[in-house]
Amino acid sequence: MTGFPADWLADPAAPATDVELALLLVNSHDLLEDPADRLHDLRWLTHALAGAGHPHLADPLTARDLPRLRRLRDALRQVFEATDDEEAAAVLNPLLQKARAVPLLVRGPDGATSLVVGAGLSGAAALEARLPSALAGFVAEHGVRRLGVCGSDPCRCVYVDRTRAATRKYCCSYCNDRRAARAYRRRRSPGLA
Ligand SMILES: [Zn+2]
Repeated sequence: MTGFPADWLADPAAPATDVELALLLVNSHDLLEDPADRLHDLRWLTHALAGAGHPHLADPLTARDLPRLRRLRDALRQVFEATDDEEAAAVLNPLLQKARAVPLLVRGPDGATSLVVGAGLSGAAALEARLPSALAGFVAEHGVRRLGVCGSDPCRCVYVDRTRAATRKYCCSYCNDRRAARAYRRRRSPGLA
């Protein structure tokens, strides 16, 4: 899987939500890509953040942030892999405390007041506050059963399950099709993978 497929986004026309940015960061490690780790430099991430409607998050990042971003990525992956909400809380709560992810009322340029986490933070610090906070809000509302890891081996990308019956298994339509093609070949040629 490459880039930021449209089926990661609830609304491809709008800037990505912070939950979707968490997906983006976790999926920067993608076993179907070569190299699998696209955080060996900042190019892919800054391009993807800007493409997802968040150039202001991309601009302040520097190469010195890469170890922090990889640590945040590893921690957030554990939330998608968590089997229950408690396991997710054990990962997210320390991240929230460490990043001082406090919601504050902020007045925007349009004069509207909104509740914002990570106000005044930028770069990696903003991501460290905002992404765990968004995932925590998601888990509180929907539970970890709505977060998952792609079942189309060897892909280990993560997804948000927005299906009505919580039946999503794959990160994107490409992996879904790949899986379906393999099952089809197996049916046609018993004994072959
Ligand atoms: Zn996949």
